[in-house]
Amino acid sequence: MMPFNVAPFVGDELKYVEQAIRNHKISGDGAFTKKCNAWFESRFAAQKVLLTTSGTSALDMAMLLCKFKAGDEVILPSYTFSSTATSILVGGGVPVFVDIRPDTMNIDETKIEAAITERTKAIAVVHYAGFACDMDAVIAIAKRHNLKIIEDAAQGVMSTYKGQALGTIGDFGCYSFHETKNYSMGEGGALVIKDSAFNERAEILREKGTNRSKFFRGQIDKYTWVDVGDSYLPSEINAAYLWAQLQRADEINQNRLATWQFYYDELKPLADAGKIELPTVPPECQECQHNGHMFWLKLKDLDDRTKFIAHMRANGISCVFHYVPLHSAPAGKKYCRFHGEDRYTTRESERLARLPLYYGLTAQDAAQVVATVKKFFT
Ligand SMILES: *Cc1c(COP(=O)(O)O)cnc(C)c1O
Repeated sequence: MMPFNVAPFVGDELKYVEQAIRNHKISGDGAFTKKCNAWFESRFAAQKVLLTTSGTSALDMAMLLCKFKAGDEVILPSYTFSSTATSILVGGGVPVFVDIRPDTMNIDETKIEAAITERTKAIAVVHYAGFACDMDAVIAIAKRHNLKIIEDAAQGVMSTYKGQALGTIGDFGCYSFHETKNYSMGEGGALVIKDSAFNERAEILREKGTNRSKFFRGQIDKYTWVDVGDSYLPSEINAAYLWAQLQRADEINQNRLATWQFYYDELKPLADAGKIELPTVPPECQECQHNGHMFWLKLKDLDDRTKFIAHMRANGISCVFHYVPLHSAPAGKKYCRFHGEDRYTTRESERLARLPLYYGLTAQDAAQVVATVKKFFT
């Protein structure tokens, strides 16, 4: 069976992980973590980047930094991974869902403003499949209503919006380095901070509520417990694994984009014939660059998708779908609300299927995937 995903591995991971172990520095914030943080800061022109234990914990930190009060609301799409919503709950806020747009499956920016109440404090956008949300529109709304912007850029590492790296545009950006993402450290993530006024509290939240980071920099004599907090430092072993991939980030990116483009070019005739739908770059974002995180296509309906996935599997190719909209999930019903009409979220989520796409997928395998997709329609 051709796998749906293979965790990225470039080879030098073993060398760097061994180095971390031989240095007897395997807890957090050692040399590899610092190198990774600095790499993102310089490559993405980010004010501050802190590696975390997961994309989820980066989101948790972002929401905690927003300091919500009970009843404060955060607007987000329902078509996303649970973490976007759970982090809002961790931060003490209430998730309010709005509909998505069918071309990118991203939040429909035209639906945000109507969902704003006097309790709204932030907008959490998700750059689905590494395709940018309409950030100019989101920023304009946030400015008008004095809202924070949190970018769930778990899938958007190395993507850009009008020249800016995804994750660096809003107040906070969150990356994931889970093994299913473009760059991995097993489990891990990073928080991007735009305004340096948040740096100190971010370090404290990340270090169990203590000012230990300041202590290590020699800025204070002894460290102490000063605020709420958690443990968001990844091990150096994990950071060493990620460091190997950052050294080859462009190669990984090109490789994924080549597979993505091959799928797109080969399947475009099916889309032109009206048999499937493919992702499109919106006209207002022709200068946006995605990162080949995911290749999705849409079938006619749920029934058609079920048959399609079964057909792919029967032909030895593992295909998957996601997400079940959060507002229809048990916790979504309990803790959240949906504002406006669910015109696309449920309907489009039921038609979407994802093809295998990972670093190192061979041209031969990609050709087999395409041939098998085409066979379904003949
Ligand atoms: C993967 C992902 C997350 C969570 O990242 P983890 O590192 O697994 O915690 C959050 N949001 C989105 C959109 C994701 O794809």
